[in-house]
This record gives sequence, C-alpha cells and structure tokens, in this order.
Amino acid sequence: MNRSIIHLDLDAFYASVEQQDDPQLRGLPVLVGGRSGRGVVCACSYEARRFGIHSAMPMTRALRLCPKAVVRPVRMERYRQFSQQVFAIFSRFTDRIEPLSLDEAFLDVSGCERLFGTPVQIAAQIKEAVFQETGLTISAGVAENKFLAKLASDHQKPDGLYVVPQPPDRFLLPLPLKRLWGVGPVTCQRLEKLGLRTVADLRQLSEARLEQLFDSAGRQLYRLARGEDSRPVIVANRAHSIGHEDTYDHDLQDSFQLHRSLLDLAERVATRLRRKGLAGSVVQLKVRYADFTTVTRRRTVEPPLDSALAILQVAKELLLRTDAGERPVRLLGISLSQLRDGPEVQGELFGDEQRERVSALDGAVDQLRRRYGVKGVQRASLMTGDKNESEAKTGGDGWDGS
Ligand SMILES: [Mg+2]
Repeated sequence: MNRSIIHLDLDAFYASVEQQDDPQLRGLPVLVGGRSGRGVVCACSYEARRFGIHSAMPMTRALRLCPKAVVRPVRMERYRQFSQQVFAIFSRFTDRIEPLSLDEAFLDVSGCERLFGTPVQIAAQIKEAVFQETGLTISAGVAENKFLAKLASDHQKPDGLYVVPQPPDRFLLPLPLKRLWGVGPVTCQRLEKLGLRTVADLRQLSEARLEQLFDSAGRQLYRLARGEDSRPVIVANRAHSIGHEDTYDHDLQDSFQLHRSLLDLAERVATRLRRKGLAGSVVQLKVRYADFTTVTRRRTVEPPLDSALAILQVAKELLLRTDAGERPVRLLGISLSQLRDGPEVQGELFGDEQRERVSALDGAVDQLRRRYGVKGVQRASLMTGDKNESEAKTGGDGWDGS
C-alpha cells in the first residue's frame, strides 16, 4: 500500500521565535547563540543568511560577515513552548508522529484522507494553523516515504510546500549527492572522485558495483538513488528526547578525554531519564569536530535504557563510528529518544548480576545528586588525575572502547 508521509520543518526556528517575541527584530539579521570567544551561531534568520551566515558558524566570523546583526542568547525553554504548540497542531491530524528535533517531524497521514483531505491539503492546513497560532512559518514536504519527504521540505524553504511527483525522478535525479541522507563529506568526496555529482550519475551504477565501493552503505545508496525507503514513521510519546551536550573549552584529542566526557554526559542523561521515570531505546551520539562539521550516530536498543553505564557502552560503540580521536572534538552530546516508561531492566548489555549492581549504583548516585546537586557527585572515574588516567589507558576500567 502506498504511504503518505509529510516532513515538517520550522524555518530558522530559534531566530524566528526571537523575531516573533520582539517585533523590532523582524526583517533584521538575527543570530541566536553565544557571544563569547568560542560562541557558535545556533540559528540565524533568513536576513542573516543573505550575508553567507549559517548555523554552526563561529559567532566571531558571523559578526565579521554582518557586523550589524543582532545577537540573542539561546532561550531553550521558550523554544520548547513553541515546539509543544506546533506538535499539538500536528496531533490534530494524526497520532503517527515521529519527532526528529524540537522543530522537525515526520507525520504518517496514510488513510487520513476521509477525515482531513489529501496529504497536500493536510500539509497546507498544518502550515496555516502553525502560522495563525504561533506566527511561525513551517516548510512541508509530501512524499511516499521519509527520505523523499525530508528532501522535499527543504526544496522550497522557507515557507515551502512541495509534493514529490510519482515517480520521483524529475525531482530526484538533478539533486546533488550531498543532499542524500547518509552521504557525509567523506562519501561525497569519494563519489566525486568517481565523477559522480548528481543522483542521476549515481543511478548509472549497479548495486554490485556500489556494494563493492561502499559495502552495506552501497546497497542503501542504490535504493536512495531510486527514491526507495521503507523505514516506518516511529511514533514517540511524551518528551521527544532527553539529552545533554557540552562544548569543551579545549578540544578533546585522546580516547581518555573522550570517554571521560561521554561518561559525564551519560550520567547526566541517565539521571534525567530516571527522574522522569523514562527509558529510551534510541541512543544518539553527536560529535562536532574542531572545524565545526557535525555528525550524529544512532543505534536502537531493546529494551530501552536508563542506566548511565548501559548508555555509556552504546555511546562508546557509536564513537568508534566517528573520526573522534583522529580529529579534535569540540562538542559531544548524547540523547535518548523513543522514550517509554522506564522499567528497571537494562537490556542485554549486562548480565543479571551486573545489572542489579548497575541499578543500585545509579540509584545511589541519584539520591546523592538530589541532596548535593549534580556537580557534587561524580563517579571516581570522572575525576581527573594521573592515577585514573593511567588506569584508563591500560584499559583497566574498560576505557579503551574495544
Ligand atoms: Mg528547522
């Protein structure tokens, strides 16, 4: 059966919220982010983009490009309020919603036609409601699968509504390969070396040839070049995700620094999950290198996790799928999504006995944190010091990530 998927993505979200809350900012280049030395542009208005500014750019560089830009600090709580409003609008049309972030989601509206009209009409109604009720514009892409819908929402940004034709070739074939899901700068370079620049070029290669070049990713490329993607829209309830990320004063270079930072992040995320009585089955790791390129790696685990050590273990595996350790890292983040009620089970990563010990330790850490605050309680292995570092390097505490 043909599916109908809509991808929705708010335009320049944080910056648009700032312009919404302060009408004097409308029509001006607005940058949201930190002003300090290592501050980064988290979001910028379309007026600022005209100066060549984009998100993840160092703030100092953005201000050189556009000295009169208005800089506003990140107000996450406020963005969350807007996000909740927008997701509430989505849920009037379907409960099959897969949030990707505060400002982005897939909706599966297959079979909603009798109630709300065609997928295009639903997308148009959502855009209208979001604008009327929040003042924000949102771009929509309509297609038969998630891959094409996401490409489509980006096609006419801002305030776009694009429907991918069936078959999708007219839309898909001219696209540059870097737009394909999963094609990062490294893959893109390899493809370019082979003389491949657009989806049409990629279409010329056989599945066997692509597999030979890119292993299992080659099969995926083969399907994407044909606009095929069978991933379902995965519904998540309640909070979209719980995560934490840190930008470091000094870039992280070696595996000890990286793993220590991951443990710190895993502790924070686990504490917040358990405080809300939740566990998550998708672990996502975010890595930003010193040159500001950012990659995410995710893995689905079953049953869902809420323990710091179990989360750490998955995060370490994901870290191996990045260039961390070879390239300096300025930011790390861990988040869990697909949240459910948190049972006291911790998956198959640990045996029963170890699982109990892990739970008891996590519980004790939670209690101490409630009493003394987060900073007051850290596991011994989080403390810096030569002794721990040398233990870590010999792999005594499982630090080596293998
Ligand atoms: Mg957006």
